Amino acid sequence: MTAYPDTKLFIDGAWRAGESGRTIPVTDPSSGEVIGQLAHADRADLDEALAAADRGFRIWSATGVFERYRIMRRAAELLRERADGIAAIMTREQGKPLAEAKGETMAAADVIDWFAEEGRRTYGQIIPARTAGVTQMALKLPVGPVAAFTPWNFPINQVVRKLSGALAAGCSIIVKAPEETPAAPAELIRTFADAGVPAGVINLVYGVPAEISEYLIPHPVIRKISFTGSTPVGKHLAALAGQHMKRATMELGGHAPVIVCEDADIAQAAKITAASKLRNAGQVCISPTRFLVQERAFEPFLDAFSAAMSATPVGNGLDDGVRMGPLANDRRVAALQDLVGDAIAQGARLVTGGERIGNTGNFFAPTVLADVPVSARIMNEEPFGPVAVVNRFDDLNDAIAEANRLPFGLASYGFTKSSDTMHRLTYEVEAGMMTINHIGLALPEVPFGGVRDSGYGTEGGSEAIDAYMVTKFVTQLA
Ligand code: NAD
Repeated sequence: MTAYPDTKLFIDGAWRAGESGRTIPVTDPSSGEVIGQLAHADRADLDEALAAADRGFRIWSATGVFERYRIMRRAAELLRERADGIAAIMTREQGKPLAEAKGETMAAADVIDWFAEEGRRTYGQIIPARTAGVTQMALKLPVGPVAAFTPWNFPINQVVRKLSGALAAGCSIIVKAPEETPAAPAELIRTFADAGVPAGVINLVYGVPAEISEYLIPHPVIRKISFTGSTPVGKHLAALAGQHMKRATMELGGHAPVIVCEDADIAQAAKITAASKLRNAGQVCISPTRFLVQERAFEPFLDAFSAAMSATPVGNGLDDGVRMGPLANDRRVAALQDLVGDAIAQGARLVTGGERIGNTGNFFAPTVLADVPVSARIMNEEPFGPVAVVNRFDDLNDAIAEANRLPFGLASYGFTKSSDTMHRLTYEVEAGMMTINHIGLALPEVPFGGVRDSGYGTEGGSEAIDAYMVTKFVTQLA
């Protein structure tokens, strides 16, 4: 069995216990066993992290852009070198299959490289002046120390987007990483420390999420907030950020619609969406969830999709051949049981799955529900698990109306061969992201973010670094 490390706080360049000595147990979701302990940050630790981030900001923002780039690229290389060990740690604490954990770690190295490069291109502007001798400049400057809050579904990916954007812009950061899956993000941060990021620039804390956010967000040292997690928590933190006039990026929940038209390649659509649905056991904010299938394609799609879902091997993510691991925590098992039970009670047809697997660990069967009434909770709440709803439509107008019915607007999916339909999906579905005829989301170089209740800001693409920068206008008369 892979050794699983205890996790410490990282404050002002040192790995250490919390001042109170308190720890939080970490559980293996495939067995329910406690596998490690996590240091718990209290107010005194947060004060040290804030002071360190304040000093770190002054050091890092004054570090040359090329030097920042060089250190970040070195961190990316270290991450690639260490990916096998880090992936095994991630699978132990989070549950996802080893190949997914390795893929997440390698993809994180690409994110670091992307932001390192972008940091060298944060061009301002010279604006032609009305008066002779005047030079007008719009400078792009780092916003200041950042507080980032990240969830347990992608222990490394959720941190690396915020961390890399902040560092590339010249900001320092305090990361409040997930208590359920703490060791993989700590290993990510170790690569930056080993690559030569100065003390104080990156600080890592864990504890009681609400206590930490309530303290850090209003604190005068912190100038920018970035949160990924559920919509209710995001609204709460965004309100707090607003009250203290802090810039914020919010990457929140989704309930992604998948519009499958009768002219699409149905077999291909079923195969790739089933794989996408079960990635990370469905605990993905962009997971395809509400399938809307045109009447003539409905039965063929449902058959192929359900067959692919039920044929997926579920088990311990460390075992060979496993394609879906356990849910990351037992809250999700109970939540899914409730959602499936409610849908069936309201008249939905259970096509496959629907139940927990075994009594040990948080395993839940890949589940397909068909003909689900819109009043069912699962049609309105993000399942965040391996459960898909497959409903039918006749007219594309109805499918688009259903796609836009919920207040979420993160990812959306379409399958069609018609360029007219592609055009309509592109412009009429209200979402931050739309992928048509393939699964093409979440690369470092493309925008990643939502609209409406799914939040605001983007964590990918050339705009992502702007979230960590302010514009300063300077005009000078020579
Ligand atoms: P939750 O709302 O309790 O927590 C979600 C995340 O926010 C966790 O990482 C948690 O530590 C953090 N959090 C909670 N309260 C906080 C606070 N006051 N301040 C700072 N951080 C806080 O939900 P959960 O049970 O962990 O997950 C359930 C739901 O969360 C899912 O159904 C899904 O909608 C959402 N979620 C979304 C993402 C995403 O990638 N957008 C990731 C994880 C969870």
